[in-house]
Amino acid sequence: MVSNLEVQNVTKYYKKFRAVHNANLTVEQGEFFTILGPSGSGKTTLLKLIAGFEEVSSGSILLRNEDISSKKPYERNIGMVFQNYALFPHMTVAENIAYPLKKRKVKKQEIKQKVEDVLKIVHLEQYAGHYPSQMSGGQQQRVALARAIVFSPPLLLLDEPLSALDKNLRQRMQIEIKTIQENLGITTISVTHDQEEALTMSDRICVMNNGGIEQIDTPENLYKYPKNRFVAEFIGEINLLKGTLLGKEDGTASIQLTNGQVVANKTRGQSLNTKSVLIALRPENIQLAEEGKVLRNRLKARVTSVIYVGEALIVLVKTKEEEELKIKIPSLLAHAITVGEEIEFGWNPQDATILEDENTHV
Ligand code: ATP
Repeated sequence: MVSNLEVQNVTKYYKKFRAVHNANLTVEQGEFFTILGPSGSGKTTLLKLIAGFEEVSSGSILLRNEDISSKKPYERNIGMVFQNYALFPHMTVAENIAYPLKKRKVKKQEIKQKVEDVLKIVHLEQYAGHYPSQMSGGQQQRVALARAIVFSPPLLLLDEPLSALDKNLRQRMQIEIKTIQENLGITTISVTHDQEEALTMSDRICVMNNGGIEQIDTPENLYKYPKNRFVAEFIGEINLLKGTLLGKEDGTASIQLTNGQVVANKTRGQSLNTKSVLIALRPENIQLAEEGKVLRNRLKARVTSVIYVGEALIVLVKTKEEEELKIKIPSLLAHAITVGEEIEFGWNPQDATILEDENTHV
């Protein structure tokens, strides 16, 4: 694949405060790439650096192999959709969308055609003469998107584009934007703190924390193989069991739990530099130990809570060592489980991820 955008060793200081630290990433042509992280992690700053609204303190940004680090925003020719849409209230929908073309001195007839075409793409053909104030949040959002893509920019930036919409509309728009993006093949970088949105829309996700990049990967890999505790806890739900690494053989690590039991977990080529490790287990990867079931690692614990959530049963348990775990069992498979009862459950070596316990680096 052709890389569209490269961020190379980018650091950004606001006075003495380091908002982005040594960021490196490559976005491929046609990719939907999301920057995800908690509030204050530096994701908006990184987007502003790419857009040119802020200047890098060090490092460089390349768009289609051209260094754009010191270019002004309008010289970068990048499309952008802001959180609040930033539509011009005194202009009609068609005038709003035509604006970037006028600025680029495109001929009148061509503008008319392009505005018509893009209105079709965002399903707003009948709204050309409306003013933004006469439209719903979702419609305004689509106008903003149309205005950002009408001049066929090499890159589209979305800054929390759906955060002002209610949940249902947000989910519909996620799919709609993703479909438009895919159909047009437009390289897109989106910023969000909403992990569900990131998982739904992205080809790859870059997880940020404290100004640094923790992991860049596909939604599936981030969920299945988080690199560290931050990513494991930030994406989805996770159980973390403390353990001590005893040894590794044939891609399987033997780990002693706090109750003395030894369990086996796949290492997936990890080097594991600490003796203290965490076994990361998604709630749905834990199974009830039933007769005849192959379950290499087994534990017993007391049930503290049972919650029915439709398709699944959430069972909270506590071990004798006071470790709490959340187990998610498909409702169909669940027999009656009662609070206070001791249950046996477990997982197979390939169902867990081993994480280094970062507090104990040697
Ligand atoms: P949010 O989800 O809340 O928007 P974010 O991950 O986008 O958060 P940024 O807006 O990039 O975070 O901010 C990262 C850090 O940089 C924050 O601690 C913020 O206070 C700081 N910061 C951002 N802009 C400036 C600025 N113009 N001057 C000084 N500090 C800033």
